[in-house]
Amino acid sequence: SKQIVLASRPVGLPTDANFAYREIPVAEPGEGQVVVRSIYLSIDPYMRGRMSDAKSYIEPYGLNEVIVGGVVGEVVASKAEGLKPGDHVLGMLGWQTYNVVDASAVRRIDGTVAPLSAYLSVLGLTGLTAYFGLLDIGQPKAGETVVVSGAAGAVGMMVGQIAKIRGARVVGIAGTDEKTALLTDKLGFDAAINYKTVPDMRAALAEACPSGVDVYFDNVGGAISDAVMTLLNDYARIPVCGAISSYNVTDGDTGPRVQTKLIKTRSLMKGFVLSDYADRMQEGASALAQWLAAGQLKYEETIVEGFENVPKAFLGLFKGENVGKQLVKIG
Ligand code: NDP
Repeated sequence: SKQIVLASRPVGLPTDANFAYREIPVAEPGEGQVVVRSIYLSIDPYMRGRMSDAKSYIEPYGLNEVIVGGVVGEVVASKAEGLKPGDHVLGMLGWQTYNVVDASAVRRIDGTVAPLSAYLSVLGLTGLTAYFGLLDIGQPKAGETVVVSGAAGAVGMMVGQIAKIRGARVVGIAGTDEKTALLTDKLGFDAAINYKTVPDMRAALAEACPSGVDVYFDNVGGAISDAVMTLLNDYARIPVCGAISSYNVTDGDTGPRVQTKLIKTRSLMKGFVLSDYADRMQEGASALAQWLAAGQLKYEETIVEGFENVPKAFLGLFKGENVGKQLVKIG
């Protein structure tokens, strides 16, 4: 099997040199184990956090150890009850072309219910993150205004569509005109702003949110969030999902700087991680599957081909190269 290990911890923006390729033998499966051939690897911004050794809610990747993430694959050999060659499975597995794991490390998925890739996107961790962060913390009500940053990404495009399902006015912030057009023309957003080209972010937001902002789902942090939060209404809710604008920053504070605004508006700003909702995954998964089947949720994926392009796909997240969920397809 080919394997990608963390060769060094990135300082600032990761580079190819932070990753190394290894060749490892594929062991025969032991009792209760399966051999899984990777089909799709999930490429996620949160992995940047695990590449540094700062304390967090999840263990850092070990140096010279395989990088682990969401993988959809096919069972090619099995000594486990309930799993046979040809079955498709999902798990947190190594960035490898083959993984030999206990059957309990994977879950069988059905490629006839939804495309295999959807289990890493709309029906996967990013869809669930949008679902719980928006509905549990954001609690949008019909007629309220929801702003989402990182809006054309995997989490962001789900947040906006779920907010529309709940009857809110939805404004997205993203980094290219293609992305903002996708949001308004295809995904039902009421307005979208290109933060890279707009001359005055706050003015553009004020125009797009004539009644102020009731929910701000934050994927990016930094200056974008500063601008959104000047428009908070009383009792606004701010699910803090991610801060990608700061993940590669080495020289200090990127904001947002919002203390007094939070006080004046009595707003709630709350960080969360998906694992907080471990006991409600079934609820989220079935809601997402129902909306998808009913045509109320659309999703996009950016699929890069080839195991050799995994680092490039990862680095692309920080340049906004992906629309929707970033995946790598193998084999
Ligand atoms: P995305 O699909 O949104 O990909 C990342 C996107 O971020 C890029 O496409 C890019 O789009 C945007 N971006 C990159 N750099 C910047 C920057 N400096 N400023 C503003 N935008 C930037 O990834 P995900 O949907 O997987 O994740 C979205 C966020 O949610 C991330 O911050 C991630 O860490 C977080 N997350 C949190 C989870 C949790 O449990 N709390 C779980 C999963 C994700 P653009 O063209 O618009 O710049």
